Amino acid sequence: MTLKFEIIPVTPFAQNCSVVWCSDTRLAAVIDPGGEIERIRGVLGKLELELDKILITHAHLDHAGGTAELARATGVPIIGPHKADQFWIDLLPEQCQRFGFDGETFTPDQWLEHGDQVALGNLTFNVAHCPGHTPGHVVFVEQSQHFAAVGDVLFQGSIGRSDFPQGNQQQLIDSIRNRLFPLGDDIQFIPGHGPMSNFGHERRTNPFVADQRFG
Ligand SMILES: [Zn+2]
Ligand SMILES: [Zn+2]
Repeated sequence: MTLKFEIIPVTPFAQNCSVVWCSDTRLAAVIDPGGEIERIRGVLGKLELELDKILITHAHLDHAGGTAELARATGVPIIGPHKADQFWIDLLPEQCQRFGFDGETFTPDQWLEHGDQVALGNLTFNVAHCPGHTPGHVVFVEQSQHFAAVGDVLFQGSIGRSDFPQGNQQQLIDSIRNRLFPLGDDIQFIPGHGPMSNFGHERRTNPFVADQRFG
């Protein structure tokens, strides 16, 4: 089997919503439907995929603002984030109003814990709880496919902000170095914003988390 994906930048924040699917079964997950739900559904239709679940890395509006609408339209379950992000979910209507776009609160069908597994057709995603940007942020890793969706934990050449309520930069760095980098240099990742990269490249060159900073 093979994992395939398509990135759909959504909202004024150009958040990398992704459609990820199992090529055997054509079962798909939408990771972080921040908004523009019709566009996301259009991609699912064009690719002839069957939506199986919605996965949420964390509850910031650009990642999760369209979750309720997509779940309502499709009837699929909402999986994630970790329950420590409940307060961000509660703040969604206010966040969306402040930034002037549609978005609403939602109730996850399943909270995620570190070490949980999420199946998608013949694929299996391991859940890594990576607090620091938000306290309930999770990352989805398909080890056999060398793939991760990391939300706002890690970017090409940077890391997530940690100046939000319950953010913590040291905790974020520890999440990246202790829970992501050991998974392998060859894991390519989709970040919440900007271009893709892989753990090895960030390990060598990312000024916030490179090995040489911690040698
Ligand atoms: Zn965020
Ligand atoms: Zn973001």
